[in-house]
Amino acid sequence: MLVAFITGITGQDGSFLAELLLEKNYHVWGMVRKSTTNTRMINIEHLLDNTNLKLRCGDMTDSSSMTNILREIKETYPNIEKLDVYNLAAVSHVAISFEIPQQTTSVNALGVLSLLDAIRFSGYKDKIRFYQASTSELYGDVQDTSKAQDETTPYNPQSPYAIAKLYANDLTLLYRKGYNMHNTIGLLNNHISYRRSPLFLDSKVCKGVADIYHGKMDKLYLGNVNSYRDFGYAKDYVKAMYLIMQYPTPEHWIISSQKTYQVREFVEKAFKIKGFNIQWKGEGIDEIGYDTNTGRELIFIDPSLFRPADVNFLLGDSSRARELLGWEEEYTIDQVIEEMVEYHCTH
Ligand code: NAP
Ligand code: GDP
Repeated sequence: MLVAFITGITGQDGSFLAELLLEKNYHVWGMVRKSTTNTRMINIEHLLDNTNLKLRCGDMTDSSSMTNILREIKETYPNIEKLDVYNLAAVSHVAISFEIPQQTTSVNALGVLSLLDAIRFSGYKDKIRFYQASTSELYGDVQDTSKAQDETTPYNPQSPYAIAKLYANDLTLLYRKGYNMHNTIGLLNNHISYRRSPLFLDSKVCKGVADIYHGKMDKLYLGNVNSYRDFGYAKDYVKAMYLIMQYPTPEHWIISSQKTYQVREFVEKAFKIKGFNIQWKGEGIDEIGYDTNTGRELIFIDPSLFRPADVNFLLGDSSRARELLGWEEEYTIDQVIEEMVEYHCTH
């Protein structure tokens, strides 16, 4: 019997991972926040009729909810040989973490403590494998931009989000060592899809292109267009999560595309899908992106979107995961951007 428990199942990654595991005949248990059952189930609506999917209400800030789900799983499968717990739940938006730093810490740091303790005291911890969704944001203010970030690059987090994720990272390692738990870490670079909230740059830009193309909007306002991100496709990255959990020993893995693009390049690529040819003029907050075909000024800088601190250069070295896990991506970033723009054109 293959059984998995996913926190954050309604999110971008949780929904793709649930699809992947259901296809592999897993019984998938998902924790969903009570408020979300009334509102934002869109990412998993198409899975709700699957009898191998079981949803339970819970919250990372409510330790008893996680204890109860682990107990119910044990009662449902008394002879369970292995349970894979994927912890994907998080306040996942970096800019928002500056606005709600305490909640970010409760969910992304203390919530992980609660979940690890729920596993530790579950009575079947030796049958449980744990995956912690870590992030390239840990590298933060990268000092050496001449090379990709690898296992030796120091962490230098720059947001309440990243600081809480670093606590979770360290705790996951500590519990692995101290309590002999099978705790794995996937340190993933930015991964995107049409299921990502438009609060994030990638979706905001792709939706912006669609709205401008359809005449629903005439300008797109952005913050820092100078930072670099290593972007991949969420569907490819949940396959890496699965492979990390299958690896015999619990380890820490970097997952990335090994290519980095400046925000302005991402913008140019997205606009190009609908025939806009973006070039830039002006500097700083007066910089403007315009379409050379028509001269229309389309992209403006809004300083209120700058963060108190930003992460300026992310480029991951995932060679170890590629070699040992056999992971590789199926989709190029251009294909993903095209899919996202087309999705927003029709939704
Ligand atoms: P997402 O779409 O924002 O999903 C976050 C999930 O966490 C949602 O299901 C959300 O539920 C849930 N959640 C938030 N607060 C919760 C709470 N208090 N209790 C229980 N659930 C809660 O994020 P994602 O892109 O799928 O990312 C998945 C994980 O990978 C996150 O931990 C993120 O930090 C990490 N990560 C993401 C990236 C990336 O580029 N996508 C990169 C590195 C690491 P609701 O639907 O109820 O809001
Ligand atoms: P992050 O890498 O997890 O912070 O993902 P985001 O998609 O939120 O941001 C990626 C980069 O785009 C960051 O350097 C942001 O400062 C920058 N950026 C510029 N304009 C925007 C914007 O309007 N929204 C967001 N979310 N990010 C923006």
